[in-house]
Amino acid sequence: LMNTYRNFPMVPRVVFGNGSFNQLGEILLPKRKHFDAPVIFLIDDVFEGKELVGRVPLLFNDKIIFISADEEPKTQQVDALVEKIKFDFRELPSGIVGIGGGTVLDLAKAVSILLTNEGSSEKYQGWDLVNKPAIYHVGIPTISGTGAEVSRTAVLLGPDKKLGINSDYTTFDQVVLDPELCIGVDKKQWFYTGMDCFIHCVESLSGTYLNAFSQSYGEKALELCKEVYLEDLSDNESREKLMMASWHGGMSIAYSQVGVAHALSYGLSYLLGVKHGIGNCLVFQYLKEFYPEGVALFNKMKEKHNIELPSGICSNLSDNDFDTMISVALSLEPLWENAIGIDWKCVITPEKLRVIYQKI
Ligand code: NAD
Ligand code: ZN
Repeated sequence: LMNTYRNFPMVPRVVFGNGSFNQLGEILLPKRKHFDAPVIFLIDDVFEGKELVGRVPLLFNDKIIFISADEEPKTQQVDALVEKIKFDFRELPSGIVGIGGGTVLDLAKAVSILLTNEGSSEKYQGWDLVNKPAIYHVGIPTISGTGAEVSRTAVLLGPDKKLGINSDYTTFDQVVLDPELCIGVDKKQWFYTGMDCFIHCVESLSGTYLNAFSQSYGEKALELCKEVYLEDLSDNESREKLMMASWHGGMSIAYSQVGVAHALSYGLSYLLGVKHGIGNCLVFQYLKEFYPEGVALFNKMKEKHNIELPSGICSNLSDNDFDTMISVALSLEPLWENAIGIDWKCVITPEKLRVIYQKI
């Protein structure tokens, strides 16, 4: 009976509340090793020149590096950042702090791992390939939905795959949940990233891997998503609830898995660079066969917020392109097994996936 149940890590420390970002200096102080070991802040460049940057608790030779979230994080980008940090400082950093959306949070996780583990980050894409503990790392989300603040993966685009560094060392050592940091998120982006959370819930709750642990988090997250996207909450309440929905959605997939939308969305992202949130929405709208209630709710939410999804994304693709997307999607076996069951190969064929991609 050994190892029947997975023993996975959780974020050991979390602070929640408007203005909690102001406590960051105090939180970092005991983690500072000494004068020469800086804290490196990776910050979404949308904040460059904004007041938030003035509130970052810099000491000694700490450094801010601004990161563009225009593209999803890449293995070479992680490797280049690690090389630069090693070159610029005599000592390994005391900590890495990621401030931004899923893109910057995943980058911060990956950089903290690669500072202590040799070689290129592509070596660690997969499950439990990391050998040594990462540098102390802190996640501070500024947009809610991905659950990256709580998950044990850092999703990277590599030369031949889009796959996470899934390990016990990936999870943040500290998370700061300050809903006020999400003020200023563009409405469409708020919808796309929030729907990532909604889709995590639907995929987890209807999956074959579901257990009471996942279900309890998934149901709570789903309830919060419905409040945020279907009721008329105050802006503050809506930000607070979506932040907690993201957290619970992430916890829900820890013990289960995502499903059909994520598998297909990874294909779109790999071939065309379509970003995760919008990619999930583009796919999910055509998944009535798999998630009838979820798709009906999704349409209601989309309508309430007047969101129009782009179309014709796949209209000029070659047969080869479709094959690439299909093979990326089919390679994500745990997702299909969760969604359909162990016999998934009897139900899911390349032709079936092609039909869905052709609609997008
Ligand atoms: P993102 O980080 O790419 O950010 C989306 C946009 O919002 C960017 O333009 C960014 O600059 C902007 N933004 C962020 N905060 C803002 C703010 N407060 N005000 C104004 N603009 C702001 O988006 P995302 O949807 O959070 O993350 C997507 C990434 O997350 C993908 O790379 C995906 O692979 C990853 N992901 C990871 C996990 C995980 O468990 N690790 C889960 C799901 C998705
Ligand atoms: Zn997702």
